[in-house]
Amino acid sequence: MSRHASDLNVLAATKFTANGSKSSPMDIENIFGENAFGLDEMKNRLSTETYASLLATIDKGEPIKSDIAEEVATAMKEWAIERGATHFTHWFQPLTGNTAEKHDSFITPNRGGGAVAKFSGKDLIQGEPDASSFPSGGLRATFEARGYTVWDPTSPSFIIENDNGAYLAIPTAFASWSGEALDAKTPVLRSMHAIDDQARRALKLFGHDDVHKVTSTVGVEQEYFLIDEEFYYRRPDLMTSGRTLVGTKPPRGQELDDHYFGSIPDRVLSCMLETEKELYRLGIPVKTRHNEVAPSQYEIAPIFENTNVACDHQQLLMITLQRIARKYGMVCLLHEKPFAGVNGSGKHNNWSIGTDTGINLLDPGDNPHDNLQFLYFCTAVISAVYKHQDLLRVSIASAANDHRLGANEAPPAIISIFLGEQLEDVFDQIASGSATASKQGGLMGLGTPVLPALPRHAGDRNRTSPFAFTGNKFEFRAVGSSQSVSFANTVLNTIVAEALDGMSTKLEAALTGGSSLEEAVATVVRETINDSKAIIFGGDNYSDAWHQEAERRGLLNLKTTVDALETLISDKNIQLFESYNVLSEAELRSREEVWVEQYFMRINIEAETTESIARTMVMPAATRYLKDLVSTIEEGKDVGVSVKGVKEAADHVAAYIDELQDALTKLIDNNKDLGGDSVHEKAHHMLKNVIPAMNDVRHACDRLERATAADLWPLPTYRDMLFVK
Ligand code: ADP
Ligand code: MG
Repeated sequence: MSRHASDLNVLAATKFTANGSKSSPMDIENIFGENAFGLDEMKNRLSTETYASLLATIDKGEPIKSDIAEEVATAMKEWAIERGATHFTHWFQPLTGNTAEKHDSFITPNRGGGAVAKFSGKDLIQGEPDASSFPSGGLRATFEARGYTVWDPTSPSFIIENDNGAYLAIPTAFASWSGEALDAKTPVLRSMHAIDDQARRALKLFGHDDVHKVTSTVGVEQEYFLIDEEFYYRRPDLMTSGRTLVGTKPPRGQELDDHYFGSIPDRVLSCMLETEKELYRLGIPVKTRHNEVAPSQYEIAPIFENTNVACDHQQLLMITLQRIARKYGMVCLLHEKPFAGVNGSGKHNNWSIGTDTGINLLDPGDNPHDNLQFLYFCTAVISAVYKHQDLLRVSIASAANDHRLGANEAPPAIISIFLGEQLEDVFDQIASGSATASKQGGLMGLGTPVLPALPRHAGDRNRTSPFAFTGNKFEFRAVGSSQSVSFANTVLNTIVAEALDGMSTKLEAALTGGSSLEEAVATVVRETINDSKAIIFGGDNYSDAWHQEAERRGLLNLKTTVDALETLISDKNIQLFESYNVLSEAELRSREEVWVEQYFMRINIEAETTESIARTMVMPAATRYLKDLVSTIEEGKDVGVSVKGVKEAADHVAAYIDELQDALTKLIDNNKDLGGDSVHEKAHHMLKNVIPAMNDVRHACDRLERATAADLWPLPTYRDMLFVK
């Protein structure tokens, strides 16, 4: 890790930094984690007993002892003040999918007219933000109006710096006074308990009495665009909704794949290096960076961490990407589809489960066929995904991600699992009851004497699958680039816990009945796979044939966010989340309500912005151009110049203007009311009426863009935005 990043840095940072001066190359080992209150810092600053007690909470999940709060608070405050912090905030994740914070100063006036820095155990443990502006999906109406935040000791506190100061951010959960989770973090933590319990129970049956904790792990590959800030300011659509609502594809788009894995432009590299430096300082272990498929699109990926910390770090990574880009005169677009007709952005959520003794439970080892334990856990994942396709679909549902799923650049809205040839073969044999040999990984000669023969990755690559086994983890690939990954991982942890629960109940019964472990596991795995094998698909998920095949198999195809969200509160799902104490029925219903509302609000904003751009920018530009053409025709006639071509051009522009005006009238009509009173009625109105009307307006605008004089066009074009680096 350090070699890769620091070598590049020496090259680049000597040429370009935000303020034009040369910055020193980063010394990753020294700066890593310097802005996080991590274990080393705790160990240095806390008494042995307090440190041990905190460590038991962090590593073993033991309940936090309240009597250590005072000492931790003092140590944290001293550390934060040494690092320049004057304020602290409880940092939390309301159901908006973003993060929220309210800052308080450490400073408390004293009687002598001076001030002292104060931060008590109570300040650390609990806070009370003004919660009324955060969505609660009806939870607060029925219970208490206020919410409170509570310290999560298992995720490191960190410092956010600015040229003019710094503050301490403390990761917290956010709940109502009656204990309902109003946030994304609480269910993640609860789901980690669920999978820990069930995985340890299963491991006991396999003879692992030494395992004290099983943790799910997550590493997220994040895609994003960087564009010049000036263009952003001149596009009201980017500013209000993060994507272009009008705009036509550039003549040279991504047809030429030279951007992908090409060299990174200097300004972008400088920006990336500073972003990475900030992430290192926050203790976020970023590892890879590269260009992505579309022009001006990039990717960054950290090394995996435990799910709770990984989810927090994902949020922090998105914030940091956006913050640092501004210092380089750029804007980081995290939207799933900023540019129509150009590849959009997603995240690959890599997920696995591992023990405190260092075993990755989804690592098949050398011979998957023999590896009973691996097969057991892998089967649990397969059956969980099969049973809860709807929940995985919900976990990636948003108005923005609807542009990608199924658009032949991202996996379709149909959830299926790719296992790779070798593993699929093993499961086929198990299903038919004839497992004897496993297909070997084999060697793949690359046809050149310079390169050695590389061992073929047994889990072969299939970029079209929404959920792929990639050697020692599953990769959930349909996640949207701007989303929090908390709910997706809450779902994964919970559904796999449930599957393990069911399988272990059967296994325990068989073992009690006198079966050998091998026989019993084989039977449970076979039965479970036979029930759920329809979810396994190794072919091309982008093809029409798959859509038909999936329908034959009875797999769900929840095409839009609205279709998906309606499944969230089914009896099956209420029961699942309640059984494992991850979400109560009220908490689940509140999420459904909030997410449907967000869908409708997002599209409503887009529709009103489209209307305004079309009316006040596109239409005036087009009519001005038409006026130019018409006066040219008149003047040309006067002096006897042929105006045949000009007349033709004018006819086209006039026809497109008519088309735009018709479409605009419909959109204005549809924007007048919201389609009803409930959030569901509004969401349906957006889906059925508003989106098609918006698309028609866009289509007309894009035609005009291609026909109108460039110097009259009021918006930066795709070519400007995508190719100016
Ligand atoms: P790939 O080439 O399959 O994308 P990488 O090695 O580049 O694999 O890893 C992609 C992401 O998967 C990284 O963020 C990495 O940390 C993460 N990852 C690797 N192992 C695990 C694991 N056991 N659990 C969760 N994430 C993992
Ligand atoms: Mg990947």
